[in-house]
Amino acid sequence: MAQDRHRDRRLAMVRRQIEGRGVRDPQVLEAMRTVPRHRFVSRTLAGDAYKDHPLPIGAGQTISQPYIVALMAEAAAIEPHHRVLEVGTGSGYGAAVLAQLGSSVVTVERHRKLADAAARVLAELGYANATVVCADGSQGHPPGAPYDAVVVTAASSSIPSALIDQLADGGRLVIPVGPPSFTQNLTLVRRTGEETTSERFCPVRFVPLVEDS
Ligand code: SAH
Repeated sequence: MAQDRHRDRRLAMVRRQIEGRGVRDPQVLEAMRTVPRHRFVSRTLAGDAYKDHPLPIGAGQTISQPYIVALMAEAAAIEPHHRVLEVGTGSGYGAAVLAQLGSSVVTVERHRKLADAAARVLAELGYANATVVCADGSQGHPPGAPYDAVVVTAASSSIPSALIDQLADGGRLVIPVGPPSFTQNLTLVRRTGEETTSERFCPVRFVPLVEDS
């Protein structure tokens, strides 16, 4: 999968934008070197796929900046046997990175067109361990719970308690928390038994987590 004409750009992206900013987890770095990000954007934007910023993917949504994808994956501390929930599939790129790291990924997207397109690319690339669900994921996806990691890629004004309920003991939730039209704080919530701790670790800007229900 790694042998494509974008490979050199992808490796440079990981070196400069991701390792260069302090992401150290070897599995995360390897996943970022492996997943062909250019396949998750339109053909006309493929040449920009390894640049240091988000890109439009249709339906008014964006594929996140590569560094932020890596930072969230590192914070989620995913191990090979872990079951992962992503809320906000968008292009499917983040799901592919998570699928490189864990044993299975359920990713939820409310836009049918985006969900279908992401499912198609993920299947073409052979990510049989990633399942796209078209639904409102603001309250998680209870059928697949508990999850060892939950990664939310849309901004929420508060931490939905349903997402904590769906975390396994020892599980981690990574979510941008703050007002949708301003800067949010990437927040890491760790669950131990019924206890949770949370810490903010990076200012970010995400599209809003929309509640349909
Ligand atoms: N992880 C994505 C980036 C996602 S952008 C990638 O790698 O490309 C955030 C996505 O969250 C958008 O596609 C948006 O439609 C979706 N979203 C917003 N609210 C949602 C909700 N309640 N349930 C599911 N998806 C939602």
